[in-house]
Amino acid sequence: MLSGAKGALVKVDLIRRGYEVRAQIQNCTGCGLHSGGTPVPFSGIPGVADIVVIGEAPGRTEMAQGEPFIGRAGKLARTWFEQLSISPERLGWINTVSCLPLDDAGRICPPTAIERYACRDNLRAQLELFAPRFCILFGQTALLAFWPLGKISNLHGKWWELSYSFEKTCHAMVTYHPAAALRNGEYGITALDDLSVFALSAVDDVPPWQMRVCYICNGEATNWFRGIASCAAHYPSLRMTG
Ligand code: SF4
Ligand SMILES: [Zn+2]
Repeated sequence: MLSGAKGALVKVDLIRRGYEVRAQIQNCTGCGLHSGGTPVPFSGIPGVADIVVIGEAPGRTEMAQGEPFIGRAGKLARTWFEQLSISPERLGWINTVSCLPLDDAGRICPPTAIERYACRDNLRAQLELFAPRFCILFGQTALLAFWPLGKISNLHGKWWELSYSFEKTCHAMVTYHPAAALRNGEYGITALDDLSVFALSAVDDVPPWQMRVCYICNGEATNWFRGIASCAAHYPSLRMTG
């Protein structure tokens, strides 16, 4: 941590950058969703928050108030973190897309691949701003932003190395979205299980690789290679073909 005048300059720079990113998003017309209202940028304090929560998109409450994760699902997520002793100032909140996606009938729906693609610079800018140590990806949409063929049912609760820009990575875990937990409590139980593994690292500072499980059999992982944890039997082998 920098102290004195240099530290203050770094902080001022971060605050300025925060306003720039906020303005970039609020003025964005990158896809058709901008006609639904002012896009919703991050909340949380860059430089203080070391955990970034990535959701799907703002809902109606968030669009009306210009802040992410303040509707029913957001409130549930905040209780989860409170229960796990993760203090609010450690959290930054962002969405995969910053506008409310609606279908032709005006119902809330997941953003399309085109909308996700259009908003990727906003997502990256927010991650670079926070430069988090940890990320939680809530739901399938957030997972698809990083892993185009990923399925949350296979990948939740495991640690991944998430690369969000050139040479910038953090420890990441995907789990079910609190909105899914509001529809079906089973998802809530799984999400809390996953988040308690997350908290072992984020709160108790146990390095994630010490508790990874094998990516194939879920057995005890003894190897860690390029973001993949494996047991001795399933060590990923790189072979030249042909
Ligand atoms: S969803 Fe993202 S890319 Fe599309 S208009 Fe909103 S902020 Fe811009
Ligand atoms: Zn294995």
